[in-house]
Amino acid sequence: MPRPKQPQQYYDDIKAKFRDARNLRLGYRPPGTDQFISELSGDLSKYAVDPYAADVPDRAPITDEVEVLLIGGGFSALLTSARLRERGIKGVRIVERGSDVGGTWYWNRYPGAACDVVSYDYLPLLDELDYVPVNHYSRGPEIFGHCQAIAHKYNLYDLAVFNTTVTETRWDETEALWHVKTDRGDVMRAQFVICANGTLAKPKLSAISGMTAFSGHAFHTSRWDYQYTGQNLEHLKDKVVGIIGTGASAVQIVPELAKTAKAVYVFQRTPSSIDVRDDWPTDPNWARKLEPGWQNKRRSKVLAAVENSLEKRASKGATSPEEKLKKQENANIDYMMRIHRRIDEIVEDQTTADALKPWYMFMCKRPCFHNEYLPAFNLPNVHLIDTKGQGVTEISAKGPVFDGHEYELDLLIYATGFEVQQTGIYNDIKGQGGVNLQDKYKDGIRTLLGIHTAGFPNLFIMGGYQASFQFNLTDMLQTQGDHIAECIDYVRRNGHHTLDATDAAEAWWVGQVIEHRGKTNRSEECTPGYYNFEGNEQRRQDGNYNGGFRQYFECQGQVREKMTENFHLASRKPSSSLDKA
Ligand code: NDP
Repeated sequence: MPRPKQPQQYYDDIKAKFRDARNLRLGYRPPGTDQFISELSGDLSKYAVDPYAADVPDRAPITDEVEVLLIGGGFSALLTSARLRERGIKGVRIVERGSDVGGTWYWNRYPGAACDVVSYDYLPLLDELDYVPVNHYSRGPEIFGHCQAIAHKYNLYDLAVFNTTVTETRWDETEALWHVKTDRGDVMRAQFVICANGTLAKPKLSAISGMTAFSGHAFHTSRWDYQYTGQNLEHLKDKVVGIIGTGASAVQIVPELAKTAKAVYVFQRTPSSIDVRDDWPTDPNWARKLEPGWQNKRRSKVLAAVENSLEKRASKGATSPEEKLKKQENANIDYMMRIHRRIDEIVEDQTTADALKPWYMFMCKRPCFHNEYLPAFNLPNVHLIDTKGQGVTEISAKGPVFDGHEYELDLLIYATGFEVQQTGIYNDIKGQGGVNLQDKYKDGIRTLLGIHTAGFPNLFIMGGYQASFQFNLTDMLQTQGDHIAECIDYVRRNGHHTLDATDAAEAWWVGQVIEHRGKTNRSEECTPGYYNFEGNEQRRQDGNYNGGFRQYFECQGQVREKMTENFHLASRKPSSSLDKA
């Protein structure tokens, strides 16, 4: 039954509550991203250790030359490498910190790990691998296995180097090659380097007073210690477990802990919005009838549906921009109030139910979908510790302290997320003239399509700022991978050695990014989170391209149509500076 239409005052009052919740939260934590630590060294280095790598074998340093070197072995690398292989490029090397490919799905093996994007859209190259996912939503192990299957199909293990972290990437002007140094003493040389090191790959901890004094066991969600918990969490049955954070990772983990641990304390600062997860096993009859090309067709349809979002539909017929905005906001509030009603229907204790209600616009934070998270709070062993926007600020030797109460724990899990889109990309990359990419970006990020940056020939960046953003990240990464493979192929086919974006092309793109950002102040009004840089002020160019995914894709095509206008293309001239065409 359609709900009765509410007067505008109803929406205005809810918006005021959103503002109050944001202000409360910001009042406690003014330092934005500085509240987190992602340099996990010294006492915190244990949080970065790879629990999934067996003993790392010794090997001699590598000093060879390959055509294409990819920093990172997750979906960015796999999707691009597949396209490079299809174009006959043999010398493709993945250099990866972990001991296998998989990226996000290598690291995030916590219990309950699964993807919130429908599997038939999320798992890439399904046609190419002749694979249909097992369920409507894929679990972590299936996705990790799919990554390995891609690497096998395209022979990407041949030259891959694991347990190896890149420490410096430097353009050697004399050789016109990239020199890539690693923590294993390698100095690998490559004609092309692709930064494929992920958008959310570097774990971060909330900087909490006393955290190193905690005497129990502790780890970050992306470094799950199954030795401690047991493969099926069976070792937790006499353990008291605390988890800090209630983002997408925690939402999947809490129901699993609830099934086994003696007691679970969930330390919440801001609740997530939790909607229904509509999962089912793949119908074999449907799968059998799929025709070649089905995944691409499906993804296009999904994109069209996303473009026709609830808010857009709601604002149809508006006669002014103000009316349009109001209609969109009201539709958004209606959705969030449905999320609230769902909590009231499921969570029995009213205080807990109220504490779990998110007071912000939909999409201010990453939305979550789970059927067992809210019911978990009805179990006698699960306790929500609502810090009401303050967060955990103190940890003693026994456990987190909040509101004068010390929560004594055996195990403390940090579900505090990841550094966003900076992951190693800007570490230590030196282009022409020894210019460090960090220095180039100090007055604002400058790229062409978020992929190329002038003065860094034959370097490609994936999943970074100034690229489009898509809830289905693999769709976005595939378009970038396709574009990069096309560019490399173009250079090879035309007898060139390097391509480097022109200043003019870069300026055009920076202009596009600026033009499409900040059309509304929605993001500024949002409660802090990684979507809005934790409430920090941000330069208009230092973010994603918001002109739409389809337009982003079309812009890639436009750039490639005019290669000679958008890039300096040069042949290799050993021992001399490069000829700019
Ligand atoms: P997030 O960054 O989304 O969440 C971090 C959580 O830690 C937030 O709830 C944050 O609260 C909380 N927090 C930080 N400091 C404190 C503190 N001092 N006290 C209490 N709480 C604190 O990280 P996640 O690992 O959950 O997710 C990261 C991203 O990874 C997701 O957004 C998603 O894109 C991806 N992901 C996807 C999954 C999927 O497809 N299903 C599953 C898991 C992750 P606050 O909100 O107040 O800042």
